[in-house]
Amino acid sequence: MGIGPAAVVGLLAGLMRALFINGQMTEVFQSAFFGLIAGYLLQQNYRGRLSSALRQPIVVGVLGRLLLWFLALPSTFVYAPIENPLSALDYSWPLFLSALLPALVEGAIAGVLGQLLYATLPALRPTQTVRAVPPYARSLNRRLLFTFVPIVFLIVAVLVYAVATTTVNAATQQAVQQMARDATSASQDIPFFFQTGQSLVNSLADDEQLRSTDANIRQSKLAEGVRTVAFFDEMVLTDASGQPLNVYPTTAHKQLTDEEKLLVTRAISSTAPGVSEVHRRDDNTLMVSFVVPVDNRGGGANALIGRARLYVNPTMTRAQSGLQNTLGTGEGFVVDERNRIVLSPLADRLMTEWQPNTGQAPITQVGGGKVYINSVEDGTRRLIYVRPVAGYPWTAVIELPYSSVLGLAAQVSVPLLLLLLALMVVAGAAMFLVSGAVTRPVRALSRAATRIADGKLEETVQVSGEGEVGQLSDVFEQMRASLKGRLDDLSLLLRVSQEVAASLDLERGIPPILEGALQTTGALAARLVLISADGQPGQVWRRGELPSEITSLDRRLIELAKSSPSPLLVESVVRIRTTLDPSIIPAGVRALAALPVRRPNEALGVLWLAYGESRRFLESEKNVMATLAGQAAILVENSQLFQAAESERRRLAAILTSTSDAVIVTSQDGRVLLMNSAAEIAFGVVATRVVGKRLQETVLEPAVIQLLVTANPEGGAQTGEIILPDGHTLYGSASDILMGEGPPLGRVAVLRDITRFKELDSMKSDFVATVSHDLRSPLTYMRGYASMLPMVGELSDKQKDYVEKIQGGIEQMTEMVDDLLDLGRIEAGVGLQRAECVLADLVREIVEEARGRALAFNLDLRTEINTSRSMQADQALLKRAISNLLDNAMKYTPPNGKITIGLDERADSLIVHVFDTGIGIAAADQGRLFEKFYRVKRRDTLDIKGSGLGLAIVKSIAEWHGGRVWVDSQLGVGSTFYLALPVE
Ligand code: ADP
Repeated sequence: MGIGPAAVVGLLAGLMRALFINGQMTEVFQSAFFGLIAGYLLQQNYRGRLSSALRQPIVVGVLGRLLLWFLALPSTFVYAPIENPLSALDYSWPLFLSALLPALVEGAIAGVLGQLLYATLPALRPTQTVRAVPPYARSLNRRLLFTFVPIVFLIVAVLVYAVATTTVNAATQQAVQQMARDATSASQDIPFFFQTGQSLVNSLADDEQLRSTDANIRQSKLAEGVRTVAFFDEMVLTDASGQPLNVYPTTAHKQLTDEEKLLVTRAISSTAPGVSEVHRRDDNTLMVSFVVPVDNRGGGANALIGRARLYVNPTMTRAQSGLQNTLGTGEGFVVDERNRIVLSPLADRLMTEWQPNTGQAPITQVGGGKVYINSVEDGTRRLIYVRPVAGYPWTAVIELPYSSVLGLAAQVSVPLLLLLLALMVVAGAAMFLVSGAVTRPVRALSRAATRIADGKLEETVQVSGEGEVGQLSDVFEQMRASLKGRLDDLSLLLRVSQEVAASLDLERGIPPILEGALQTTGALAARLVLISADGQPGQVWRRGELPSEITSLDRRLIELAKSSPSPLLVESVVRIRTTLDPSIIPAGVRALAALPVRRPNEALGVLWLAYGESRRFLESEKNVMATLAGQAAILVENSQLFQAAESERRRLAAILTSTSDAVIVTSQDGRVLLMNSAAEIAFGVVATRVVGKRLQETVLEPAVIQLLVTANPEGGAQTGEIILPDGHTLYGSASDILMGEGPPLGRVAVLRDITRFKELDSMKSDFVATVSHDLRSPLTYMRGYASMLPMVGELSDKQKDYVEKIQGGIEQMTEMVDDLLDLGRIEAGVGLQRAECVLADLVREIVEEARGRALAFNLDLRTEINTSRSMQADQALLKRAISNLLDNAMKYTPPNGKITIGLDERADSLIVHVFDTGIGIAAADQGRLFEKFYRVKRRDTLDIKGSGLGLAIVKSIAEWHGGRVWVDSQLGVGSTFYLALPVE
């Protein structure tokens, strides 16, 4: 619920109460006010523990009700049914206090209900998010006021209470004292009255005249008794039966009251005197009768009665008036033993019964009397002093309206309270002013801090004030100034470093450094001198004016920079004769700073600044200068590195341009990075149209692209021949560009024109094919005739030997010619065809055929077949190739050696390997093994016969199948030949 609806609900509730319960219209407004306050507290969304506590219904209920209770004081006061304001206050105060507990209980019950409601229906909670800063925390000033103003209020309230209670107590004390005094003097008068009456009537009774038989004598005695003593108003002499004998004055009552009669009888029988109670006459006067026996000499007795009117008797009158007017409003009276009021200025109260405060406990006892506080029917209170009369069963009572006590208290306390109030107002105002004065500089500081935080560093921080605030302001100003200095330095350095980073050109990069140095240090001049190759001052840049010739100073500073990496800071040139000769320092220069410009192990130059005044170098200034010198060093070093790299690049470019081999370099993602002029000529393209493009997007030969994109699965260079459309043949080799351990940077292909070698090769092949074909028939003759020689006649042993040698030669030649013809046939592809072929079976077959020979040479022959995959191949050719490899292994492996022939499957290839523990092949020979007629020339293999064509045939067969052959061998250890054949 919002504040408005809550107030309306409060208003209605108040109206109900006003109408049906107590009829006080102020209730309506109080209740509406409560609704207003509660609604506001429940829905405020301020931060902080206090605010969150104030959102709890229980707290709101109790506090709000407490506030209402407090605000109800005036209304209780106004509604008090009493005119006198002090009495009204006295009346309303206890009512007000007694309302506190019910108010608290009421508030707590409402709060608990609200709490339960929230717990069961959390959605009802009006404030779900808390973010506003509470009003009391918005500024230091408010915090101070929100803390101190309630404290002042509390102190004042306590003081008011203390003053009020103290003065009321003192006034009560004073009133009681006075009542005690008044009552005491009155109560002393009363016994005196009775004693006087007694003794007077006694002395009259002793008189002889009363015993006279003459009535006149007795009458005159009575008259004398009344007139001369001025105590009794009436006197009566009676006989023993109570019949009056004489009465004076004659107007007096002749008839005795019942009590008088009783007293007469008792007095005569016991001879003791008696005093009657107070009795009223018809004329409304109150009287007391004193009775004594009068002895008659003749025996028998009479009685004398002296009647005294209470309101005529001076003693009593004094006692009565003594009891009045205590504190101006006190009303006193005396009650007799039967609690009847016998002495009071108020006639209508006389002889009425007085209700003593029997059940009540006295608040104090003073001067033999007890003090009570009593509420009268109209709600006001009275202070009552009750004092028994000493020596007589009467009691003196003084009643004092409590308002008189309060009035007395007010006389003392009102000025005090007014003073307090004035003090409070003064304290409040002072607090307001002081907290304003205290927080104003703090606010100004806070604004200054905000400006600094926002980076507005131009405005100075000036907050007037001494002490902490003044110091703080000074510190802020220092902070601002140094921050601004730092920021200026930083932005300078940033500018310089941007300039340095952006250029490799000294002419562009160095001037900003020098200007920055001048700007930040306020020096006269700045110079940067570089060391030339011969160690002397070289290039110089300068800013600012220097008065005279300074090359000798440059030279000296260069020497110092070379010898020490630390800066030379001369705060006053007068004091530094040891390091610098004063004569080389130009006139007008008072201080110097020279900063070596260096790379880690070498001085590159010196940056120096000349000042017109001697000065102290601040740490921040030194740092800026050192950074500037560092930037200069970076610039110089970058420029030198750039020049070195540039000349290296030019040299490489020249080499690449001059070489006759075509070179193409690609990046890792397959873009062409470089293409030299030989490549341009070879492929007939302009480099600028290719460089930067993806390989696939260029107009290069597909074979070249293939070469560059396919990596050799065994590592190393990928090689291949490329036949260009114009008939030229290129031999290309492409490999990764590796740098250290990392991934390749790209690929480089070098392509050489081998057209001429190719032509020679084919001429050679043609020649050999022709010759071998032509050799075949003469050889057949020769073999025939040589075999017929023994048939035509007996041959001698020598002849037989010769014939055998001729036959051996013919065999060898035939074999060679066959090999050559086979080779030609394979290269030409004549009569070859592919069929399904299981390589594993083929290998087993070859091994079984060779097993006999192996046994003969005492060789350990084994197989390691790991796949039985089939492939499309010319079986006869493959058998020839594998057999050649196995034959070589057996030929070049000494007895007791080991030969293993294996078959493996790897990435869509079948790989046959033939391993032996033979003589091995030198690395230099390995490259040429597969050439036609190439045989390794070694002394220990001279006896081994061979044509040098076996491996060439293997190579041709491999290439016909799209595969390849290679060797891995170590001299004296053994060789492994590999034949890789693609399955598809
Ligand atoms: P040849 O008929 O001379 O054996 P090949 O072409 O078969 O001709 O072999 C060429 C040369 O390779 C041989 O002269 C031999 O020196 C060397 N060679 C071939 N196989 C082996 C091997 N398994 N161990 C050592 N050397 C070998």
